[in-house]
Amino acid sequence: MFTKTLRQAPADEVAKNAQLLIRAGFIHKEMAGVYAYLPLGLRVLEKIKQIIREEMNALGGEELIMTNLQPKAAWEKTTRWDDEVVDIWFKTKLKDETELGLAWSHEEAIVQMLRPYVQSYKDLPIRVYQFQTKLRNELRAKSGIMRGREFVMKDMYSLHVSKHDLDAFYNQAVEAYQRIYDRLGIGEDTFVTFASGGAFTKFSHEFQTICPTGEDEIYLHRGKNIAVNSEMIDDQGIIDELHRLQIEKSELEKVRTAEVGNVFNFGVDKAEQMDVEFADASGQQKPFYLGSYGIGVTRVMGVIAEKFADERGLVWSDAIAPARVYLINIGNDDDVVKNTTKLYEELKKAGIEVIWDDRDARPGEKFADAELMGIPHRVVVSPKLLAQNLLEYQPRTLDIAENLTTETLFDKLK
Ligand code: ATP
Ligand code: MG
Repeated sequence: MFTKTLRQAPADEVAKNAQLLIRAGFIHKEMAGVYAYLPLGLRVLEKIKQIIREEMNALGGEELIMTNLQPKAAWEKTTRWDDEVVDIWFKTKLKDETELGLAWSHEEAIVQMLRPYVQSYKDLPIRVYQFQTKLRNELRAKSGIMRGREFVMKDMYSLHVSKHDLDAFYNQAVEAYQRIYDRLGIGEDTFVTFASGGAFTKFSHEFQTICPTGEDEIYLHRGKNIAVNSEMIDDQGIIDELHRLQIEKSELEKVRTAEVGNVFNFGVDKAEQMDVEFADASGQQKPFYLGSYGIGVTRVMGVIAEKFADERGLVWSDAIAPARVYLINIGNDDDVVKNTTKLYEELKKAGIEVIWDDRDARPGEKFADAELMGIPHRVVVSPKLLAQNLLEYQPRTLDIAENLTTETLFDKLK
């Protein structure tokens, strides 16, 4: 690895997630709100993506990749080209003055792209998703990777023949999201909030994770598992609903959260605005129903980095850590090097990802870096323990090390 840890984060970085991720060598700050993912950070990102991918595939989702460069025409049809309507566009021009937008979302793009595929009711449903870099000219970018001007989103779109079909799929998507947040380790602290009512046929839900540096606020009833976005708390529909559930507003706890995902039911709006129809069983032309489902992949990574970090650094779960084992050799005796090499190869062979810190550095420096990087299991090969055929083992979340045989170590890691 070319990586190096830093004692201090750049002075202009105020967000804890980015401070830690920069110090530990996971990301590089190019400018405010713009971060590169270094090999360690990319590994975490790819693991988060893989969990999401598995759940999207289980829903029948098909993965594709759309384009960052967007033509103006498709977005004009829905009024969303207008900077008054969407205030975060980055726009540019071709040499011949043709205007282009840099994609901040892909609803219009997917409807445009699927137009030739949506002819008959037999062509539906369609469920597609992608992992894409979105570009948004955000006014403020002080939350590290939790609010980037360039960030990775998973966005899924589903097209259906009827409201009934969309509603059923929408509910499945909500359940899939809950499984994703569970697998990422933030399920217990993530709440679904009813986000916007509007017309009865259109609505959306947000997934909000408790996080002190989040930019949102929700009202929460943990016992009844009810959460309301603070923006919605005075909405008459919400007031009636709380009344029906016999919950007083005063019983709700106000907590700071980060929006880690959301799901939108667009009804037939987009199809009507963009004039895309299919023929139903009787040959009649009809607009399709559209759902849109987003997860802020890089934001989730930032939330996890912040939530689980302790005073010594990052703390990753086995599911998304860049490697499961941080292997340290103490000294460079032939015997130590030989045994560490052997263990390293055995771990790799067993499919256990391992980082071997073979630098010629003080043990204290290696220990500190293992902790800063947040690798879940630390294994030390030292001359003293080798003499007794033992290794030192310590999980990142415990303060106590124990001495184990290689066999017991493998049992534990399995
Ligand atoms: P926010 O209110 O936080 O700006 P949004 O309503 O604009 O979010 P969407 O456009 O629905 O969000 O995007 C889907 C998901 O992408 C969000 O739920 C969030 O997790 C993530 N996201 C949105 N904006 C950013 C950003 N600037 N940086 C990182 N992730 C983001
Ligand atoms: Mg936004």
